Amino acid sequence: MTEARLYDLLLYAWCALGLVTFVVLLFVPAPYGRHARQGWGPTVPRTAGWIAMESPALIVFSVLFCLGARRGPIAIVFCAMWSVHYVNRTLVFPLLLRGGQRTTPLAIVGFAVLFNVVNGYLQARYLFALGPVYPSSWLTDPRMLLGGGLFFFGLTANVRADRRLRALRARHGDGYHIPRGGLFRWISCPNYFAEIVEWSGWAIATWSAPGAAFALWTAANLVPRALAHHRWYVEHLADYPAERKAIIPFVL
Ligand code: NDP
Repeated sequence: MTEARLYDLLLYAWCALGLVTFVVLLFVPAPYGRHARQGWGPTVPRTAGWIAMESPALIVFSVLFCLGARRGPIAIVFCAMWSVHYVNRTLVFPLLLRGGQRTTPLAIVGFAVLFNVVNGYLQARYLFALGPVYPSSWLTDPRMLLGGGLFFFGLTANVRADRRLRALRARHGDGYHIPRGGLFRWISCPNYFAEIVEWSGWAIATWSAPGAAFALWTAANLVPRALAHHRWYVEHLADYPAERKAIIPFVL
């Protein structure tokens, strides 16, 4: 069987697994952060866990970029977009985390490593080897401009929301506090909303099936988690703003 055929089968299976994951996560929140609980096996320090689980995305993507035949300006732009996100997520975000010596289950790290290896392969192999070659006019194509704009809006909003969350513990001490300002005025989880916007932008900019699969997986992970966070806030913080939604302003 050719790699292209295997790639297609993997992509179909990957999308199906994303849908199953969405349904499971609606009932069983991933057991880290405020949803951490007993019974998920050994744990590792949280910062090390984040670095370990996100670094495969950077490594796999970079290796496949180097092995791929496409090194032109379009490939470099996609590589830069990916790297900006994952350098932040792999190194900057974990090293700035606040909240003491919290831990993450090794099982979560394992799932995330698997996700990042498969997703990194699907994105990079399509862009740098198996997908159609982008015309040189792609950099000014409306899909690239719209997708790139959404990507950078999402990236910026995600970083800003994560920063606001970090500031809560710097200001009020350990534990959970009501986040305010920015997109928190309307939703409980703007970092998740922004991450979904970001990868939807990637899907539009790459105009690709693997890009769309990544956006769907991001929503499958983060919409159920936002609903669980929102329920947690309402149950645990008495004066939580009643008008705030979970993840989509005015809707959900
Ligand atoms: P959370 O919003 O649950 O937590 C982010 C950080 O802020 C954690 O350190 C958390 O502490 C702290 N925090 C959250 N809420 C409060 C609060 N009310 N008061 C004080 N501190 C708070 O995000 P995740 O940890 O789930 O995700 C982190 C980043 O990773 C996000 O930007 C997210 O978009 C991204 N991500 C992307 C995924 C994808 O599929 N693409 C999947 C998962 C995450 P604590 O850990 O102690 O709860």
